[in-house]
Amino acid sequence: MPLLATDAIVLHAFDYLESSRIIRLLTRESGVQSALARGARKSRGRYGTALDLFAEGSAQLYVKPNRELHNLAGFEISSTRSELAEDVGRFTAASTVAELALRFGGEEANEPLYDTVANALDRLAVSAAESTLEDGLAACWRVVSVLGFTPELSSCALCHTPLRASDDATFSHASGGIVCPSCSRLAPGGRRIPAAARSAILGWLESDEAASLSEPEARSHQRLLREFLGAHLADDRPLRAFAVWEHERWSAA
Ligand SMILES: [Zn+2]
Repeated sequence: MPLLATDAIVLHAFDYLESSRIIRLLTRESGVQSALARGARKSRGRYGTALDLFAEGSAQLYVKPNRELHNLAGFEISSTRSELAEDVGRFTAASTVAELALRFGGEEANEPLYDTVANALDRLAVSAAESTLEDGLAACWRVVSVLGFTPELSSCALCHTPLRASDDATFSHASGGIVCPSCSRLAPGGRRIPAAARSAILGWLESDEAASLSEPEARSHQRLLREFLGAHLADDRPLRAFAVWEHERWSAA
């Protein structure tokens, strides 16, 4: 079996049979891959915390051609990101980022996706309680963008007329972004979004600027993102981590 050595991030992990663990990895060289870690539960010493959620390191996989589950030969950990488990806001946001990467990342190498996810998890690991939601939103939009679905936010998505940054606008999921007043008549189902919401997303995507969202704004942003994912990336399966991320905070409040 060929050996694949690659940077990898553990984005899902569960126990398998009595002694093993199955992990789903985002790898730098080969996109999303799944691997069986034999004996990982019996001898904790072999992997330590390397196979815990959100850990990153250098993985070696014995690749079985045309099979979905490979064998893990080794994992040398470089970052545990254990801080993500210490706060529910950090954890649910990180889980949502992981879900998007696993669901839509594919098996081809995508270095920008790898780096975006790694940076997002690093940032969430040190995110203050009041910023986890915004940091999660920024991370998700960046992931969506490197997957090729950057929303149009400066000009009309249909006729390309530039729109003033200070104006509220209609966001049309079907059209892939904001639309001008005349095109909005051709794009039913659009949602009016305030200028501030548009500039917040632009800030996250282009300049790493924070928007310091209020709770209602953050809630509206989660809804907008959910609708956008539904229009452009969704398959038949619900996004369960996203649902937990969206509902946990508001039901606890
Ligand atoms: Zn237009």
